[in-house]
Amino acid sequence: MPLRLPPLALAAPLLALLPACSPRVLSADGWNFRVGDTQGAVRLVSRQEFGVCSAKLVGCTVPVGHGCLVMLDLDYFLKGTPRQRTLLLAHEVGHCLDASVLEYGHGGIGAQGAVYGEYYRPAVEGFAESYARAYVARCGDNLAPLGYGAGPECEVPDPRRVTAEPPAR
Ligand SMILES: [Zn+2]
Repeated sequence: MPLRLPPLALAAPLLALLPACSPRVLSADGWNFRVGDTQGAVRLVSRQEFGVCSAKLVGCTVPVGHGCLVMLDLDYFLKGTPRQRTLLLAHEVGHCLDASVLEYGHGGIGAQGAVYGEYYRPAVEGFAESYARAYVARCGDNLAPLGYGAGPECEVPDPRRVTAEPPAR
């Protein structure tokens, strides 16, 4: 699908608040999404352009006001399987909603995200991954609700109702 989309009105003022953002991030291909009252801009960039996030990661979300800038590693996103793409974007949107809806409450998840791997033990990562898993359970690999590609309507999970799977005993 063509990725060069006209930026919506949101993108310019949102990105203007990020002086650390490189011009290559500002002009990168991407799209916008809206979940409830939360708006975000997604940009596909080389992870070396993330700036505020480690280039070892494949996604980086920067909250701005009630919205977010989500940067995804272009190679990982475009070459990944549909499931990898979905988990990546939904995980980053989970970070965005944690900020905009839960005020970094992380859904009260604590260390339960460790069921998904050690990386997800901190509550901030545990919540984002729990959101991603809840997204897949509800919408599968359909990313149209997050502004990417075409697909049927799907009501994305409410971040206030997302919990981690119970920890293994
Ligand atoms: Zn994360």
